[in-house]
Amino acid sequence: MARYTGPVCRLCRREGEKLFLKGERCYTGKCGVSRRAYAPGQHGQGRKKVSEYGKQLRTKQYVRRSYGVLEGQFHHYFEMANKMPGVTGENLLALLESRLDNVAYRLGFASSRAQARQMVTQGHFTVNGRKVDIPSFLTKPGQLIAIKDKSRSLDMIKGILDANASRPVPKWLDLDRGAAQAKVLVMPSREDIDLPIEETLIVELYSK
Ligand code: SF4
Repeated sequence: MARYTGPVCRLCRREGEKLFLKGERCYTGKCGVSRRAYAPGQHGQGRKKVSEYGKQLRTKQYVRRSYGVLEGQFHHYFEMANKMPGVTGENLLALLESRLDNVAYRLGFASSRAQARQMVTQGHFTVNGRKVDIPSFLTKPGQLIAIKDKSRSLDMIKGILDANASRPVPKWLDLDRGAAQAKVLVMPSREDIDLPIEETLIVELYSK
C-alpha cells in the first residue's frame, strides 16, 4: 500500500495549519507549526499572494493530507462523491470520514490517523465481529467497530486508550469506551467534521 513517507510536519507547515499527523506531539510546543509558522523551503517566508487556483489546490492538499490519502485515491473518492445524491463536497468529506482508519482515530483508539492506519493493517480491529485490516474500508451506519479482545490486553493499546480517553467523540459514533467498541449511527454530516475549509474549492478544482 503506497503512502507518503517524508517528514510530516513539513506538510502542516506547507498548509499553514495543524494536520495532527503526529499524535501527542501535535498538542505540545514542539509542534512544527507552532515553532515555525511559515511554509517550508527557501521561499517559505516570502510567499504571500495566493491565486484562486492556489486556494483550491491548497484546500485539496489540506484535506488529502489530513486523511493521509494519496492523489489517485483522493480523486477516486471525489468521483464517488460526485455520483452520490446530495452535495459533492460534503459527500467527499463524509466518505473520507467514514474510512476505518479515521473512525478508529475519531474514537480515540489511536493517537493519529497514521497510527490508526498502522493498527488497522496489523489486524487489531473488527467490523461486526470480523477482522478488517484495510484502512480504506468504508464504514456504514449500523456497523460495530471494535478493538479485538486479544489486542485490548496489549500494553501498547492500553496506553493509547488511556492517553485518548478524554478526546471528544463525534455524535455520529456511539462509543462504549469500556468495551472498546462503537456503533456507527449515521453517515457523518458536514457539521460533524471539524475541518476549517470550504470544500466547494475542491469541487471547483476538479471541475476544471
Ligand atoms: Fe503537524 Fe503534528 Fe507536526 Fe504540529 S506536530 S506540525 S500538527 S504533524
